[in-house]
Amino acid sequence: MVELIFLGTGGGRFVMITQRRRTGGIRILSEDLNLHLDPGPGALIHSIDMNLDPQKINAIFVSHSHPDHVNDAEVLVEAMSHGARSRRGTLVASRSVIHGNDICEQSISNYHQEMLERIIEASADKRFRLGDLDFKVTRAVHSDPDTVGFRVKTDDYGEFAYTSDSEYFDGIEQYYEGVRLLILCVLRPSGKPWKGHMTTDDAVKIIKGSKPEMAIITHFGMQMLYRSWREAKHIEEETGVPTRAAVDGMKITFNEEIKVNLPRRQMDLGSFIS
Ligand SMILES: [Zn+2]
Ligand SMILES: [Zn+2]
Repeated sequence: MVELIFLGTGGGRFVMITQRRRTGGIRILSEDLNLHLDPGPGALIHSIDMNLDPQKINAIFVSHSHPDHVNDAEVLVEAMSHGARSRRGTLVASRSVIHGNDICEQSISNYHQEMLERIIEASADKRFRLGDLDFKVTRAVHSDPDTVGFRVKTDDYGEFAYTSDSEYFDGIEQYYEGVRLLILCVLRPSGKPWKGHMTTDDAVKIIKGSKPEMAIITHFGMQMLYRSWREAKHIEEETGVPTRAAVDGMKITFNEEIKVNLPRRQMDLGSFIS
């Protein structure tokens, strides 16, 4: 079984700096892996808060160099290496994060990269196995030109995927064809396009083209915050694919079934039903 825990469901600058939604990324737990995906601001504190010991992490995945995806990566590297006492864990990250590019500077220092056992540079179409999961890097089109998404294959229960920040481009659906669960970073609602990002309309096209068993929308910008549930409904009506709007603290268990468990706290539930 794989478990996915949403430590954050906010995205973009304004949601991040106001923390109207958390921006801690997603923890993915399998038999062999304790993986943190896109540790934005709050990844460390919400891990501790949710009893997900950051020192147990053995892989950190970073899709690109924007702070809402990478901000807490260095402190998680310190946790993963048990306070830099040993070289431990794997970093899988875009070229921009590891080396920098013309637009973004390197976002994990050489000092921190020295604490890692292994570094994998993630570029589109690359495949590798880590622990008990197989990964394929997917393409994204975003203001950091090295941005990538990830597709994850379990041995027994098929695949799930995460788009990261991307605008719609010809052929994006092909990267996600055949996955059972598709997590899309949908910053903007229907009819409100923004370069480099996805709207609900783009999500509809991608879901129609890739036909997952279930879709989850997350990484909401300000305009999505109070209508994410309605936008998810709209996607579901357009595509026929069950679609949920993620909330902070939400957990998904992924095995024969894909089960969404909402957090008990009323505050979080409130943002789901509004
Ligand atoms: Zn983002
Ligand atoms: Zn971004």
